[in-house]
Amino acid sequence: MKQKPVYISVIIPLLNEEGNIRVLYDALLPVVEEVSGSYEIIFVDDGSKDASFDIINQLSLQNSNVLGISLSRNFGHQVALTAGMEHASGEIVITMDADMQHPPDVILDLYKKFKEGFDIVNTIRTETADSGTFKKMTSGWFYKIINRLSDIHIEPAAADFRLMNRKTVNAFLQLKEKDRFTRGLISWMGFKQAMISYTAPSRFSGKSKYSLFKMLRFAADGITSFSAKPLRISFFSGLIVSLIGLFYAIYAVIEYFSGKTIPGWTSILVSILIIGGIQLISIGIIGEYLARVFNEAKNRPLYMVKQYTTSEVLQEHV
Ligand code: UDP
Ligand code: MG
Repeated sequence: MKQKPVYISVIIPLLNEEGNIRVLYDALLPVVEEVSGSYEIIFVDDGSKDASFDIINQLSLQNSNVLGISLSRNFGHQVALTAGMEHASGEIVITMDADMQHPPDVILDLYKKFKEGFDIVNTIRTETADSGTFKKMTSGWFYKIINRLSDIHIEPAAADFRLMNRKTVNAFLQLKEKDRFTRGLISWMGFKQAMISYTAPSRFSGKSKYSLFKMLRFAADGITSFSAKPLRISFFSGLIVSLIGLFYAIYAVIEYFSGKTIPGWTSILVSILIIGGIQLISIGIIGEYLARVFNEAKNRPLYMVKQYTTSEVLQEHV
């Protein structure tokens, strides 16, 4: 899609955020205009079932710098982010959530850091009023695991609230993988990156769109995209269990010849369960990687666009 190039693009992926869009827009507009009069705000509607897209449509009629892209169904936050980046024309591109947990004022801090000469400015949240202890704990474990297993480093509490310049957006769009773990890809890319922190308030309206299942998928994508070590771990755990089994067998034979019979089936049951468990886990791990290879091999487009907000853009595209 050819738009007139602008200086700053703000990308906002969203799913069922009808209660947040206007509030965000009202808070965002003065901040963006302070940075530059040449801007675009791109809302990527990731298959909302509520009035989100109608609201975006109204905003685009009010302000021609607002563009809405409606994806044909829910493709997930990470894909929606990429969809927004593919449509952005800005010299600098900012990605942020729609629920006011990424305070628009922080954009000025991102911009200041960019002006100091950084290509990418990332954020970490210092406090989240919203997330319960369960989310904090599991997210803490996740970052420990991924940082230990993979070669990339991801700051715990990193957010998909960041500024990128044109050079790094173009570089990012060259990464064609289907399971997109954006913060890992960004860390992998390199370039000159900075980090600032911000305090995340509670979500303004609605509930978190990351269900437990989506969070688990996100975590699995993160680990399997950046490390093959789980495959090796299953090999080594198999090796260790087999060695233990071998020693146990030697012990059993010695016991047999010394005239004592091996007591009961408990030991057999325990070893069968342990070995069975390890086998199933290993098959599961292989399955996770295989599923990702399968996904890549199909080579389907990352997403499909159902409609844009303005009819001219739509006509240009078809
Ligand atoms: N989101 C999305 N598609 C999804 C899930 C979430 O576009 O499948 C959007 C959501 O509307 C929000 C952002 O991604 O703008 C972050 O999601 P959320 O606030 O629910 O996550 P949390 O802050 O609870 O981790
Ligand atoms: Mg949120």
